[in-house]
Amino acid sequence: MTAPVRRAHAVTIERTEALRHALPAGIAELAPDETWLRWRAALFAKAADVRVRLALTPLAYRALTGLSPAPGAAGHACIYARGARLRRPVVYLDPARLADRGAAEQVLAHEFMHVKCPSYGHKQAGFDVAQRLLDTVAADPESSTWPADSALPTPATRVPAR
Ligand SMILES: [Zn+2]
Repeated sequence: MTAPVRRAHAVTIERTEALRHALPAGIAELAPDETWLRWRAALFAKAADVRVRLALTPLAYRALTGLSPAPGAAGHACIYARGARLRRPVVYLDPARLADRGAAEQVLAHEFMHVKCPSYGHKQAGFDVAQRLLDTVAADPESSTWPADSALPTPATRVPAR
C-alpha cells in the first residue's frame, strides 16, 4: 500500500497519476506545505468518512505505528500495526516527495482509498474509489476556501471564502 514512488509498481503509479484533481491552475503547481497537507487531509477524511492520524515525517510515522515508512515512499496508509488493526489508521505523506499540490491531491486520494477500502489493494476498483473521493472533495464548498496562512500566488487569484 505504498503510494506512487519510483519503487512502486508501474501500473500503480500510472493509476495514481491518472486521478483527476480539481485544483485550479495557479494553486495546483504550488508546493504542498504542512498547513496545506493537514487541511486537505481533513477534507479527504471527511469525504471518506474516516478518522485518521496524519504523519508528515518518518519520525511521526514511527511514533504512531512503530514502523518505518518504506524508503522513497511519497505516501502510505497504515491500517495494521503491532499485530492489530489501528483504531485510527495513520496516513503518512512525505512533503519532500510530493512535486506539487496537484500531486499531493492524487496521493491523498490514493491513501484515503486504502483507509476506506483496505481490501481493494491497487485494483482498478480502488482507484475508482480514489477518484470519487477527489470528486467529493471538489464538491465540498470548504475545499475552495484556501487557508490564509498557506502560501498563495497573488491575492488576485485567490478564491474568496464562501
Ligand atoms: Zn497504495
